[in-house]
Amino acid sequence: MVWRVAIVGAGPSGLYAADALTSQSDVPVEVTVLDRLPVPFGLVRYGVAPDHLSIRSVRGTLTKVLERPQVTFLGDVEVGKDVSVSQLSELFDAVIYTFGAARDRALGVPGEELAGSVAATDLVNWYCGHPDAPSAEVEAEVASARQVVVVGVGNVAVDVVRVLAKTNAELDHTDIPQHVLDVLAASNIEDIYLLGRRGPVQAAFTTKELRELGELAEVDVVANPADLVLDPVSQAALADDRVATRNVEVVREWTTRMLSGKPRRIHMRFLTRPIRLIGEGHVSAVEVERTKIDENGAAVGTGEFETIPAQLVVRSVGYRGVGLPGLPFDERRAVIPSIEGRVVDAVDSTQIRPREYVSGWIRRGPSGIIGTNKKDATATVASVLADSATLAPAAGGGRLALQALLADRGIAPIDFAGWERIDAAEIALGAERGRDRTTLHTREGLRVAAL
Ligand code: NAP
Repeated sequence: MVWRVAIVGAGPSGLYAADALTSQSDVPVEVTVLDRLPVPFGLVRYGVAPDHLSIRSVRGTLTKVLERPQVTFLGDVEVGKDVSVSQLSELFDAVIYTFGAARDRALGVPGEELAGSVAATDLVNWYCGHPDAPSAEVEAEVASARQVVVVGVGNVAVDVVRVLAKTNAELDHTDIPQHVLDVLAASNIEDIYLLGRRGPVQAAFTTKELRELGELAEVDVVANPADLVLDPVSQAALADDRVATRNVEVVREWTTRMLSGKPRRIHMRFLTRPIRLIGEGHVSAVEVERTKIDENGAAVGTGEFETIPAQLVVRSVGYRGVGLPGLPFDERRAVIPSIEGRVVDAVDSTQIRPREYVSGWIRRGPSGIIGTNKKDATATVASVLADSATLAPAAGGGRLALQALLADRGIAPIDFAGWERIDAAEIALGAERGRDRTTLHTREGLRVAAL
């Protein structure tokens, strides 16, 4: 007997699950990996910053998983539209949902909806060449801004600041789509303010990523010595937090730097929270309030206000999962409720929904690095394999039946060979400009290249 498993989402979580399933031999498996995009790799392609080549190189490992004979990739298939959750549960012995956290969290301040206020998810999707990115809008905002405010001090915020601040020479070796590279090369951005509502001790970024901001070719980094005067709660928190200790050291060194006259400046502003975005139809400034850390480590306002001019505001305060019709959803945590990777029928319920599993950001929320999802996938796959001993196989016919159902609906998935053709087309496109690769950024372009 072969246990037929569908995985919904070909990002790192899904492909690590496919890896765990096909790296064991106790239970023979056949794995079908579905993605609504025509290409695999999820956040490795559309989230990891294009200039972080070593993190992106995990793509090589994930490709090897897709090449395994037990694994079939079916891209350009949207679960919930092309095939339903209940149909998948009828067709497959197990379905693992690994579709991540696609949206942005709201900032919750007035003016957030003004033009020029952009979610980091949209900006990241744009520079990574995601086919669903609101490219025209983001491009217009990047092209016209001189001052930028980025709200949030996680690694995504640091990525955004770095990509906006780099020169063409620092980005040309990446696979960023050519039109994005051209817009970035022509941008007039002079000042980027990175706002943390709490202090440097509470910042979410990691030291390696933070340090890079101080090493950019055409950028002066400006840090505020007052942010480094630590309150007793932050001081105590430092004692057993090595990452925070190193982060503080990096920022402290920046406070000693003099402006050297470089064309761009990154202003690190901790203990500063946005109060409202100001502008008539389009953002022109951000009103911020100085904060202090209370006894619980939270930010509280001090009543000291300031206005920072900005024509572009990037809201980088975390991702948020989105539910899928037919599956339960925990609105508060924005995850699918589960126990040991098994989907349960409601929040706080212990009633397991047979054959349905979950892993990655849509199970635990948007935290951790790419590798964190490997541990997560291994745990979920252990549940899938354990259940194969007790569950009867599903009545449906697995992948072949799914392909027949899709064909009936006129849907032609892009398989691994199609992805290999896209891959070759991107490499050829890059070569035209002396680059290793240029990302194809439209759905149509990807579909044509896959033929
Ligand atoms: P994150 O790490 O959760 O950081 C979110 C930031 O937004 C925090 O500084 C948070 O501050 C702030 N924030 C939240 N609500 C806010 C509000 N209303 N006003 C002002 N600030 C607010 O999220 P992320 O940067 O999106 O990253 C998601 C995950 O991907 C993280 O685990 C990250 O490490 C990972 N990632 C890793 C890399 C890498 O390894 N190179 C690159 C990109 C992303 P508080 O702490 O005060 O809430």
